Amino acid sequence: MGMNNASSTAAQRLARVRASLAEHGLDGLLVSQIANVRYLTGFSGSSGWLLLGSDRALFFTDGRYETQAEEELPGDVDLELVILRDGSIAGLSQRAAQEFAGRRVGFEGQHVAYGDWERLRGEDEAVEWQSVPGVVEALRAAKDDDEIALIGKAAEIAAAALLETLPTVRPGMREVDVAAELEYRMRRLGAEGAAFEVIVASGARTALPHAATSEREMREGDLLLIDFGARWRGYCSDMTRTFVLGEPQARQREVYDLVLAAQQAACAALRDGVTGAEVDAAARAVFTARGLEDRFPHSSGHGLGLEVHEGPRLGRRSEERLQPGTVVTVEPGLYFPGWGGIRIEDDLVVTTSGAGVLVELEKHRLRSLPS
Ligand code: ZN
Ligand code: ZN
Repeated sequence: MGMNNASSTAAQRLARVRASLAEHGLDGLLVSQIANVRYLTGFSGSSGWLLLGSDRALFFTDGRYETQAEEELPGDVDLELVILRDGSIAGLSQRAAQEFAGRRVGFEGQHVAYGDWERLRGEDEAVEWQSVPGVVEALRAAKDDDEIALIGKAAEIAAAALLETLPTVRPGMREVDVAAELEYRMRRLGAEGAAFEVIVASGARTALPHAATSEREMREGDLLLIDFGARWRGYCSDMTRTFVLGEPQARQREVYDLVLAAQQAACAALRDGVTGAEVDAAARAVFTARGLEDRFPHSSGHGLGLEVHEGPRLGRRSEERLQPGTVVTVEPGLYFPGWGGIRIEDDLVVTTSGAGVLVELEKHRLRSLPS
C-alpha cells in the first residue's frame, strides 16, 4: 500500500464508522457510494467498494484501478486490496459470504442499483444484508479543517475565474460562450474541472431555477444568471451571481435587492445548533413579507463537500441541527416566468459563533456588464 499524508485521517474516519456500526447493530458495512468511498479511503477512482468489519477491511476495485488503488489507499490501515478480475460484483458477493456468513452487514440501499443488489445478495443469501441509509453521510456533514480549506480553494478558483470572465461578456455572445470561457479559466487556475455543468441563463430563461445553458444570444437589457463551481482535489464549490447587460431597470434592481436581503438574512441566521428549516425561514420571511413566497420554489441551500449537493439541506422540513464545520450554500432566488429570475449563492462554513463565507465575491448591487 502507498504511503500518504491522508493515512491517519483515514484511520480516524474508519474508526468512527466502526463505532457507528455497533450503534446500528451491524457486524459490517459495505460502502459503495463513491464519495463515501473516497472520504473513507482516499481512493479517487470512479469504481470502488469498501467492505468494513469490526476488525477487517477489504477494498474492491477492478483492474483499471489496481495501480491507483495501491498508491492512494492509506498505508497505516489494515486494508486488503481485492481486484475483481472480471469487474463483477459476484466476486465481491462471494468474498463477503466468506467473511460475514450468517452475520448482519449494512449496505447503502439508496445508492445500489437493483441489478447490483441482486448480484450482491447471491443465490444462497449467506450474508444478512440490511439497507442502512446515511451512515457515512452523517460523518461527512461536519468537515475538518483540511476539508474546509479544500472547499475554500475550490471557491477561490471559481471566483477568480468569474472575475476573469466578466470583462469578456457582452451582448451578442451566447450563453454557451460564457460557460466555455468560465470553465476554461477554472481549468487554467488549477481546477480539476467544473464541479457541475455550469449554468448560464439569460433573459427570460433566468426564470428557470435549473436552466441548462443554451445557445441563446444575449441582448442588451437581459438579466444574466451564472451558477458555477470548481472541483479541487475532489471538493466542490457552488456559487451564483446575477448581472444585467447594460443599465439595470428599476424592477431588476428591486428584485435583486430583495433576493440580496433574503440571502443576507439566511447567512445571518446560520450558526451552530440552528436547524436548516430555521435558516430557510429567515430567507423565506423576506419574500413572504412582500407576498412573493410562491416565487421562491426551492430550498435555501444545501451541504457542499465531495458532492455538490449533499446533506444537510436548508429546506422547510430540514429539522436536523447544523454543526460547526458544516459547509452549506445559501442561495435564495425569485423567479417570474416570462420576465426572469435572480439568485445569489455563497458558500459558508458554520462556526460556533455564526458562519463565515468561504470566498468574498462582490454582490451588494446588481452589477452591469460589460464592466
Ligand atoms: Zn449553484
Ligand atoms: Zn447550490
